[in-house]
Amino acid sequence: MENQNSNFIRDIMIKDLESGKRDTIVTRFPPEPNGYLHIGHAKSIILNFGLADEFNGKTNLRFDDTNPAKEDVEFVNSIKEDVKWLGFEWDNLFFASDYFDEMYNRAVLLIKKGLAYVDDLSADEIREYRGTLTEPGKNSPYRDRTIEENLELFERMRAGEFADGEKVLRAKIDMASPNINLRDPVIYRIAHVTHHNTGDKWCIYPMYAFAHPLEDAIEGITHSICTIEFEDQRPFYNWVVEQCEMKHQPQQIEFGRLNLTNTVMSKRKLKQLVEEGYVDGWDDPRMPTISGMRRRGFTPESIRNFVRETAVSKNNATVDFEMLEHFVREDLKLKAPRTMGIINPLKVVITNYPEGQIELLDAEINPENPEMGVRKIPFSREIYIEQEDFMENPPKKYFRLFPGNEVRLKHAYFIKCEEIVKDANGNVVELRCTYDPQTKSGSGFTGRKVKGTIHWVEATHAVPAEFRLYEPLILNESEEDDEGTFLDHVNPNSLQIFHGYVEPNMKESRPHDKFQFFRHGYFNVDPKDTTVDKLVFNRIVSLKSSFKL
Ligand code: ATP
Ligand code: MG
Ligand code: MG
Repeated sequence: MENQNSNFIRDIMIKDLESGKRDTIVTRFPPEPNGYLHIGHAKSIILNFGLADEFNGKTNLRFDDTNPAKEDVEFVNSIKEDVKWLGFEWDNLFFASDYFDEMYNRAVLLIKKGLAYVDDLSADEIREYRGTLTEPGKNSPYRDRTIEENLELFERMRAGEFADGEKVLRAKIDMASPNINLRDPVIYRIAHVTHHNTGDKWCIYPMYAFAHPLEDAIEGITHSICTIEFEDQRPFYNWVVEQCEMKHQPQQIEFGRLNLTNTVMSKRKLKQLVEEGYVDGWDDPRMPTISGMRRRGFTPESIRNFVRETAVSKNNATVDFEMLEHFVREDLKLKAPRTMGIINPLKVVITNYPEGQIELLDAEINPENPEMGVRKIPFSREIYIEQEDFMENPPKKYFRLFPGNEVRLKHAYFIKCEEIVKDANGNVVELRCTYDPQTKSGSGFTGRKVKGTIHWVEATHAVPAEFRLYEPLILNESEEDDEGTFLDHVNPNSLQIFHGYVEPNMKESRPHDKFQFFRHGYFNVDPKDTTVDKLVFNRIVSLKSSFKL
């Protein structure tokens, strides 16, 4: 069962239903289509969709597309795909741009009520006039334009008579308000930009802080869940709903953002990593995007379980990446077939094994889930092992192969290293070993013990494969520390590529199949670069963990 920790937003919903303030729950997930979704968004998705589901309510997917310069249909499509993949279905799909007419009419209503005016100050002047936390703002010289003049100028803004930045429409509230967001915020700006949905119909666009409460009210949203940085915007949110005379009154509720260690999360920074070529696109397996995590091999269940375990609070929280890894291991433990793969091969010839003979050995598919059955793996005179499982001059407590030492081959026999073959440069290129037929796995042999067990792949049937191992993308702790300089902390070793071998039955694997490679961890068949001739495995996570829940 998925975790159902208590959270204060659910408590508000319960209270509102019990008191009769609301008779149903309606939420929305409102991404701006200016990038791909990331794991932080998953938290918002799970809160909005998850809570509405608990109360048999409804959730809209709404694209907050009021800033056409940065938005694109590519992002719209990826967002839809990611929400579905995470396991959620929206009741309605809306675009904020569908409401541009109504938003315009509400702005006109504000002008008619004397609550909005057209201002000719430049953006810099508006900022200057706004004042600071300790100093009140100053009124714009254009603040006292008549209603008629404002109506006419706003209409001419809409008709395209002015250039970008020449004029704005501002709410008329209070330039001395202790809340800077109430010092006559801009509610419409001019932007001669083609919109992905409305084309060239508009050259003025509503500002987010004005548009968002209207969108929520139009859709009958009961609980408008957003991140904590909007807390100071709440008075303006309520002002817009009230003064625009919206029938429905939504309630804004803020919660703390989810961040992860060793990555950046804001779309602006992720975009920079993509555009400057640090990663192979938004879906690069090192990215904290939903599409990157899917390509890496994280499952929707693991992401949901992880997010549900993080607290819902008023504070932004940076959660250890290892906690996410813990949840994917938990999810794959019983599902992923076990197999053996050699990432960095070293050839071994078993000199006393009959030439030309192949035998098929039994290997459990998942010892923790015996119902998954048994697979057959070939064994012969020639196998591959990992280079790191052999040392010519081992330190103490090295229990793997070295000259004269005996180890167990998983699912097979004991072998003993008799001879080393080197190339002209002195590199070890082959080992010559002997095996003991009595020690066959499953035979019940107890004659003697060995301390090391290593994995292997039979050489003549082995399937070549590429392995991609990952380290964190960013080398310092969290995004808060490094505003502006995060590119200096990009890990140059975040991707390592190896060419090795996998068991012959892996030939059948399909994109997104997940396996536990013995001793190496969980891997996903890469959906982008795997071809009929080339298998690519992305390491999702290693087996070792220091993380404790
Ligand atoms: P970013 O700062 O990463 O660009 P955003 O807030 O601008 O994110 P939106 O597309 O506006 O991105 O976000 C859609 C919803 O997801 C919003 O309600 C937003 O508050 C929420 N959200 C975004 N990032 C996080 C996060 N790290 N943790 C929790 N919720 C988030
Ligand atoms: Mg945004
Ligand atoms: Mg943002």
